[in-house]
Amino acid sequence: MYVERAERLRRAMDEQDIDVLLLSVGPDLPWLTGYEAMPLERLTMLVVPRDDRATLVLPGLEAPRVVERPDLFGLRPWQETEDPVAIVAGLVEPAATAAIGDRTWARFLVDLQSALASTRFVRASSVVGPLRARKDAAEVAALARAAAAADRVAAQLQGGDVPLVGRSEAEVSADLGHRLLAEGHHRVNFAIVAAGPNAASPHHDPGSRRIEAGDVVLCDFGGTLATDGGAGYCSDITRCVHIGDPPAEVAEIYAVLREAQAAAVAAATVGTPCEAVDAAARRIIADAGYGDRFVHRTGHGIGVEEHEDPYIVCGNATPLEAGHAFSIEPGIYLPGRWGARLEDIVVATPDGPRPLNQADHGMAVVEA
Ligand code: ZN
Ligand code: ZN
Ligand code: ZN
Repeated sequence: MYVERAERLRRAMDEQDIDVLLLSVGPDLPWLTGYEAMPLERLTMLVVPRDDRATLVLPGLEAPRVVERPDLFGLRPWQETEDPVAIVAGLVEPAATAAIGDRTWARFLVDLQSALASTRFVRASSVVGPLRARKDAAEVAALARAAAAADRVAAQLQGGDVPLVGRSEAEVSADLGHRLLAEGHHRVNFAIVAAGPNAASPHHDPGSRRIEAGDVVLCDFGGTLATDGGAGYCSDITRCVHIGDPPAEVAEIYAVLREAQAAAVAAATVGTPCEAVDAAARRIIADAGYGDRFVHRTGHGIGVEEHEDPYIVCGNATPLEAGHAFSIEPGIYLPGRWGARLEDIVVATPDGPRPLNQADHGMAVVEA
């Protein structure tokens, strides 16, 4: 798997005329090698020359954590009194263009720029992003496992098994997080719980507000599920619950949202530009009169990172390819009152869009 990824990477470097790729903290490195750099003040950097063997430069004390892959990279552990930037610079020279991981700490980029004055630096995401966006069968299977685990938590929420009334948003958020772990995730990435007027804020930070009768409770949660010997893959789902029977206005607006979400999923066929998928959802919401209440893009790619390429947004003309995995998550937000969002992870396949989340798409009603 990693050897095949390295081959695809080198082809992309060729096409884009990148002489060397530099990866540090962030998900590109584990995607390519299975090794995740510690986010330390000590530099870890994989140096991948276009036509030479890669070298993993890392703090000597981190070396025991590395699973050696001589077919992929050599090791250059550095000791406490050495200068790792000089070591990397020595491996890079005389590269004209270096692609450096987007999440690399600025301090290391600044030092590398002065050590390599004639090298042009570009973002590694321009090379690695499109490769990571196209999931292979094993990656789709990993995303499907994560989605199924998130679905089980969603079903518990919708079935009334997660106590809501009288609890604070923060308590419910912690509960959802525990359930994600119990269902097999090894890390909780987020658990937004937004009740009543707070549901009008898309990324509300769950707080002390107690959930009460008449609330819409918007829950958007996800985590990372480990895979054997490699990077983990993410889940991300949003479902809404109403405390007591929803009034007609809530039911009507939610029906618009549900139709918009389904339309965008159906539009997500191979070859369709990302922005056309966004438009499919937006048109329905705008036609119902809530266009200015859908205040964010329709979705984002997902994989080893919870947000990655491709972005389902107006202005992104990239056509969907088989293996692209992304969220479809339109929302309608009425400031000061309530809001709703509905989110599934979907994979574009030659046979059409494949939603990975199966949890019921209705607004669940739980006893007040
Ligand atoms: Zn979000
Ligand atoms: Zn989400
Ligand atoms: Zn999302």
